[in-house]
Amino acid sequence: MANRLALVTGGNGGIGTEICKSLSAAGYRVVTTCVDAERERIEDWQAAMRQDGYEVDWVECNVANFDACAAMAKEVEAKHGPVEVLINCAGITRDAFLHKMDVDNWNAVITVNLNSAFNVTRQFIDGMRERGFGRIVSIASVNGQTGQFGQTNYSAAKAGLHGFTMALAKEGARKGITANTVAPGYIATEMTEAIPEDVRKGILAKVPAGRMGRPDEIARVVAFLVADESEYINGALIPINGALFCSF
Ligand code: NDP
Repeated sequence: MANRLALVTGGNGGIGTEICKSLSAAGYRVVTTCVDAERERIEDWQAAMRQDGYEVDWVECNVANFDACAAMAKEVEAKHGPVEVLINCAGITRDAFLHKMDVDNWNAVITVNLNSAFNVTRQFIDGMRERGFGRIVSIASVNGQTGQFGQTNYSAAKAGLHGFTMALAKEGARKGITANTVAPGYIATEMTEAIPEDVRKGILAKVPAGRMGRPDEIARVVAFLVADESEYINGALIPINGALFCSF
């Protein structure tokens, strides 16, 4: 696997942190993006990771902004060399029923969850094609598969993300590049802590597993998908949702 370099967007979030840990434990060199280093206290996060035995570098970048992503890519590659593994994990929710949703909340969610995949992946795809190796995993959601009340924006973005994956998988298949989607169900992170308690209880009641998922349960699948040996898994969507939604 030759000490490959992995970039994780939103790597300091709930799921992203576990992805950084599992990739680092598997021997990858790992860099995360963070929106605003000062506000996020990223150095504290980095120090806590280091204490747990994980060495992860960080770079400031708003993935909603294409030019910022271009600058970030230059910075990362100048410091660490080529990015061979990319995890599109950054995401936000801005929930409201469509009849109450304003255009800012529509645009913010589409931009951060979907346009970001273009903004970031576009920076690295040429290099991956030239070198004949790349692994791209995008974190979507069960709500992109089923739709969810109050989430027309989020469901559209996450469904769109898998369209992106499928097309990219075809484009990269003969170049040693894979693109896959992971679709988590309800995972215990700050994002789901923001769901009102009564709504969360209602959701949990419908999860056959009877509990929320853990971020490490997502991370282990990501690590599996990006392995050199996983080349024939391409264009797939892997649901991880405690049997909340099953399909074939
Ligand atoms: P968190 O809120 O913990 O993490 C989200 C991460 O994305 C944070 O690091 C956040 O940075 C970053 N981020 C947000 N906006 C931007 C931006 N403009 N530029 C760069 N980074 C940004 O959420 P989770 O860990 O729960 O979610 C991770 C991914 O998993 C998301 O894509 C989410 O949609 C998806 N997901 C989560 C589920 C869950 O149940 N938790 C279920 C299904 C999917 P900052 O801290 O600065 O905001």
